[in-house]
Amino acid sequence: MTTALLTHADCLGHVTPDGHPERVARLEHVLHALEPLELKRVTAPLAADDDLLRVHPESHIRTIQSTRPVEGFAQIDGDTFMSPGSVDAAYRAAGAAVRAVDLVLSGEVSNAFCATRPPGHHAETETAMGFCLFGNAALAAKHALDHHGLSRVAVVDFDVHHGNGTQDLLWDERRALVITSQQMPLWPGSGRPDETGAYETVLNIPLAPASGGAEMRAAYAAQAFPRLRAFKPELIIISAGFDAHQDDPLASLNWSTGDFAWITAELCRIAGELCDGRIVSTLEGGYDLDALADAARAHVEELIKAAR
Ligand SMILES: [Zn+2]
Repeated sequence: MTTALLTHADCLGHVTPDGHPERVARLEHVLHALEPLELKRVTAPLAADDDLLRVHPESHIRTIQSTRPVEGFAQIDGDTFMSPGSVDAAYRAAGAAVRAVDLVLSGEVSNAFCATRPPGHHAETETAMGFCLFGNAALAAKHALDHHGLSRVAVVDFDVHHGNGTQDLLWDERRALVITSQQMPLWPGSGRPDETGAYETVLNIPLAPASGGAEMRAAYAAQAFPRLRAFKPELIIISAGFDAHQDDPLASLNWSTGDFAWITAELCRIAGELCDGRIVSTLEGGYDLDALADAARAHVEELIKAAR
């Protein structure tokens, strides 16, 4: 069995202003780092509007489409910009996540990594924010539940920022367990432990600034892994942000590349126990180009090891 890599050149066509951390070079570095690896390379399709409508109202889709500039940039908020290529990129990022679910659930591959941008985990129901336009991880979870008929899906978000969008989109979805760890305090400010969802299916794990891999490993072992094992998901979706890395400029956690390998290996082990190893991972943040490339490669190498 193999690991799939889903991407599309359109994701390089989402351009942000000079100096913006979520830039084209991020994906170029990730793809370069993954070049030597043995992967089933899959062209990401455009998402269908029906895929997006599982988590966003039509008004949000229309807003994103109508905000697309003909040239230059359109600014959605202080951090979030669109260029002429952003709509196609966002549809590819969402489409990759949906296609990855199809590939994994059909048994064509064991697991999959979506190397796409813009990222998704900050996009709320009707609000694009934090560099994110559509909720890629959440709509992949809904696709697995509503299209494929799964009963339980888990999303694990180890990006350094709170997955507020995923939490919002799946807040009242009792079939989805959302586990998100984040540096706290840090933008966007949400993600307290008392945010538990309408059906107690949201687990927030705050991590103290300047904490490192030891604290992360302890927190996941004590809180996240028991919840996953109790929930017994039939698919695990990973929001793979690499900005908890010690070299990242946007946050102050001190994870090493080895910590990203560790958490990936642990999630693969749990997926092996619970759901035939079925994992779909989608790229979120990570803003130091070298750290991002190293950590993403370590992440995908663990997916490959688990797929053998
Ligand atoms: Zn982040």
